[in-house]
Amino acid sequence: MSKIQFEYSEKFAREMDLKDPLSQFQNQFYFPQINDKKAIYLCGNSLGLQPKSVKNHLDRELKNWAEMGVDGHFDGEDAWFFAKNRSKPALADILGAMEHEVVAMNNLSVNLHLLMVSFYQPTKERFKIIVEAGAFPSDQYMLESQVKFHGYDPAEAIIELSPRLGEHILRTEDIISTIHGNAEQLALVNMSGLQYYTGQIFDMKSITAAAHQVGAYAGFDLAHAAGNAPLSLHDWDVDFATWCSYKYMNSGPGNVSGIFVHERFANQTELPRFAGWWGHTQEERFKMEKGFIPMHGADGWQLSNSDVLGLAVHQASLEIFQEAGIKNLRDKSEKLTGYLEYLIEQISGDSGVLEIITPKNPSERGCQLSLLINRGGKAVFDEWYDQGVVGDWRNPNVIRLAPTPLYNSFLDVFRFAQILEQSLKKFA
Ligand SMILES: *Cc1c(COP(=O)(O)O)cnc(C)c1O
Repeated sequence: MSKIQFEYSEKFAREMDLKDPLSQFQNQFYFPQINDKKAIYLCGNSLGLQPKSVKNHLDRELKNWAEMGVDGHFDGEDAWFFAKNRSKPALADILGAMEHEVVAMNNLSVNLHLLMVSFYQPTKERFKIIVEAGAFPSDQYMLESQVKFHGYDPAEAIIELSPRLGEHILRTEDIISTIHGNAEQLALVNMSGLQYYTGQIFDMKSITAAAHQVGAYAGFDLAHAAGNAPLSLHDWDVDFATWCSYKYMNSGPGNVSGIFVHERFANQTELPRFAGWWGHTQEERFKMEKGFIPMHGADGWQLSNSDVLGLAVHQASLEIFQEAGIKNLRDKSEKLTGYLEYLIEQISGDSGVLEIITPKNPSERGCQLSLLINRGGKAVFDEWYDQGVVGDWRNPNVIRLAPTPLYNSFLDVFRFAQILEQSLKKFA
């Protein structure tokens, strides 16, 4: 990204919007209202907005169901038997994967457990897992319960990485040296790809390489990375990953997750896994016979038949990603978040009220900035909300703001800055 000379002015923000090739995409989304005004929605990290095209996609499947009943499984253009295939091209683009390495299925925490069945088989010698300290709670509970399930002690088996004293983010060198320091006993590195609290992107390529060097697997929870950060899971040689579709992928509350399993496991039928009929080879599925034969690639991890209505909503959103282009989205995202960062620094200066803890280097972050609130606490956040800003508050004292390139504008960021300036006068 060439360095842009940002300015704190409405004129500048409007000029940036005029130059933005993606500026029209915001019209494809519904925005909530707060106090009768269109919200400044900076919360795509938690729940992405609804694409207007969702209704058409859903209506189409409702019509198929109404008109065909059970025949909809195999008849018509949208035959539900193949429903999971439609999302593959877009998911492959977003994750940096091959189509047979990804499949949309289940929900995120469920998928984490299923992937652990394949990629965490502890032995007395090799049973440790590395994760970042303060991982998303669901991931912590998942790891703890998996370790206990195999009869090990979480306090011994789970190694949590913390930033150095006085720092907020992890250094790659410290992650790598912890991997090497546990070389003999390490079974798995299972971190988030983009940390939900700090907004830091971990160096998945180097982490994976280090894990492989010591004979461990590397898998990532991409809840905050998918649809937000550049990903090349295949080339980075990542073993497995999972994500959700309702954050940056705008596919609706609780909608379908997905998994990535690297190509080298595509035909490894001996890898342990929990099986269900939807992972059984397609040709044989309705023979209803004994003996599970997994499908090639990620598809072989499916258990149940697809949630067709959920996939229809997911598809509406993925088509927008395809139309906008992953690279264009990333280009805009770096500028938009750079602008937010610039304005926050201009306005808060050295008042000490807040501090950005997300990395400054654009390649180490997605669109989210995490602000540590040193004075005023949640009252700062509530005040912004009353003015129409939707961000999110994370205990104990972080506000996350995520200007997303699909539906946020430079003017949104500018308007937020004005609200910030007013509120800082109160809390400074
Ligand atoms: C949002 C999020 C989840 C949520 O899990 P669900 O199973 O979809 O409820 C899990 N892990 C991380 C890191 C998240 O950010």
